[in-house]
Amino acid sequence: MTATLIDGKSFAAGLRQRIAEHTAAMKERGITPGLAVVLVGEDPASQVYVRSKGKQTRETGMNSFEHRLPADTPEAELLALVGQLNEDPAVNGILVQLPLPGHMDEAAVINAIRPEKDVDGFHILNVGRLATGQKAMVPCTPLGSLMLLRDQLGSLSGKNALVIGRSNIVGKPMAQLLLRDSATVTIAHSRTCDLPDLCRTADIVIAAVGRAHFVKGDWIKPGATVIDVGINRTDDGLVGDVDFAAASQVAGAITPVPGGVGPMTIACLLANTLTATARANGLPDPEGLTP
Ligand code: NDP
Repeated sequence: MTATLIDGKSFAAGLRQRIAEHTAAMKERGITPGLAVVLVGEDPASQVYVRSKGKQTRETGMNSFEHRLPADTPEAELLALVGQLNEDPAVNGILVQLPLPGHMDEAAVINAIRPEKDVDGFHILNVGRLATGQKAMVPCTPLGSLMLLRDQLGSLSGKNALVIGRSNIVGKPMAQLLLRDSATVTIAHSRTCDLPDLCRTADIVIAAVGRAHFVKGDWIKPGATVIDVGINRTDDGLVGDVDFAAASQVAGAITPVPGGVGPMTIACLLANTLTATARANGLPDPEGLTP
């Protein structure tokens, strides 16, 4: 391997440490940040995520509130809970774990969260604020990826960045953040032509496709920085969207899976909760936690 390994696990640990320090300082002023996580149903992956979110929230000194509802909960009941959490001053951040059961309208539920408490950054107002360069809550996985990129490269200005994937939770907000940092951004998706050639022109590659080892080593421009967002469960365990063994021979720097972007996502959720708490109390945004 010739590429530098971008160690998201250790970066996230440092970030959580800084969040814990900010939280302790807030508590001295009588403010305890609180994150409410709502899980509907029994999806095993979601249960694991919710457990680790709760654990890490408590470890940084914040209050964690967990609400578990059965899979057949009527949407109106979930909306009523979101309404209660919106009004609860002890709750600064609200996260409704996705995916929701099929009978629920995800967009309606997400848009019922008060935008200031929308720590996932999926509310339509936060999407619009991000797109127009206003103060927003920024989705956690793209925010974490941006932090790793800035740490690795310093300025992203003028770099050719290719985002593979155009989902609302990763690809699109990632592209917005890169654009905001003055990268030249291309978004690829399943209808993109000549993806390998396009990829060979990219100084920065963000892979958010959801297919194991999709991005091949010979697609990578020598020296490029590769951020692998993918999490794919295979017989060989968790693997990313990038053929790590081959790409790491060509790239300048690359994130591993696991241990790359994954740990950054929850750390950024805590960062967003802290930011939401600061804003709710008229305090400046905690340094280094927002884009
Ligand atoms: P989606 O399934 O919502 O989006 C996948 C995107 O990949 C789509 O835009 C799709 O294009 C595109 N795509 C699919 N096939 C191809 C292809 N052959 N060529 C080019 N593009 C293609 O996934 P998400 O954005 O939610 O997640 C992406 C990956 O990131 C998954 O592995 C997921 O598990 C992981 N993830 C990791 C997180 C973390 O914490 N590290 C958090 C969130 C997600 P089209 O729009 O045309 O269909």
